[in-house]
Amino acid sequence: PRITERGLLGAPTLVQNAETLAHVALIARHGPRWFRQVGTAAEPGSMLCTIRRADGAPRVVEVPLGMPLKALLSDVRADQAVLIGGYHGSWLPATEAVRLTLDNQSLAAAGARVGAGILLAPPPDRCALIETAAVVRYLALESAGQCGPCLNGLPRMAAALTEIAVGRQRGQTQADVERWAGLVTGRGACHHPDGTARFVRSALITFAAEVSRHQRGQCTGTSKRPFLPIPHGSARTEEDWM
Ligand code: SF4
Repeated sequence: PRITERGLLGAPTLVQNAETLAHVALIARHGPRWFRQVGTAAEPGSMLCTIRRADGAPRVVEVPLGMPLKALLSDVRADQAVLIGGYHGSWLPATEAVRLTLDNQSLAAAGARVGAGILLAPPPDRCALIETAAVVRYLALESAGQCGPCLNGLPRMAAALTEIAVGRQRGQTQADVERWAGLVTGRGACHHPDGTARFVRSALITFAAEVSRHQRGQCTGTSKRPFLPIPHGSARTEEDWM
């Protein structure tokens, strides 16, 4: 049963985003006009944005919707890529990202979305292709496996992306990934498969040159220290859940 029918202590349960509730409380106190003083006409207000740049620790800032990404990623270099929206978001080349603003209207033109409000810009010495493969494996293992896309599609996509990252892809691998990404999208009870497919597709586009390098046995990454965080103690195999 869905938790809206039977959840906490067997009662219908509402799960709500704490940030949304905080906004609602402030709008109730100060009014909608106050809230609309910042943000864009279509996407008013502010949001919490988590930024992790090449220099290390993440920081969380409250920023108005519509803020230029260039201001949030001031030290990003042209040869870097930026992950916009978190692990259900999209990779974009830094040169493209810095021309956009933090709102869905602007990001949609580049196939991205605000999502969880997370911006990650790995340093140039990391291989974002290898790191993406590790995150996709994590995402594949983090579903309850109750729906077809998570049971069948995500593990296949994760395995294929690992093949690509280690330079062992077969002729069909990328076409298979594209096909599976299409098959899982819109087919789950939630949007976990859709977001994972978006993340994978954007990686294969943004890191196309790196994919070719890996096919030739090369890699631009010189540091093996992971940049994209994966929660400590996460399942590494399906058996870890048993
Ligand atoms: S689609 Fe959503 S609800 Fe269904 S198994 Fe995947 S994560 Fe769970």
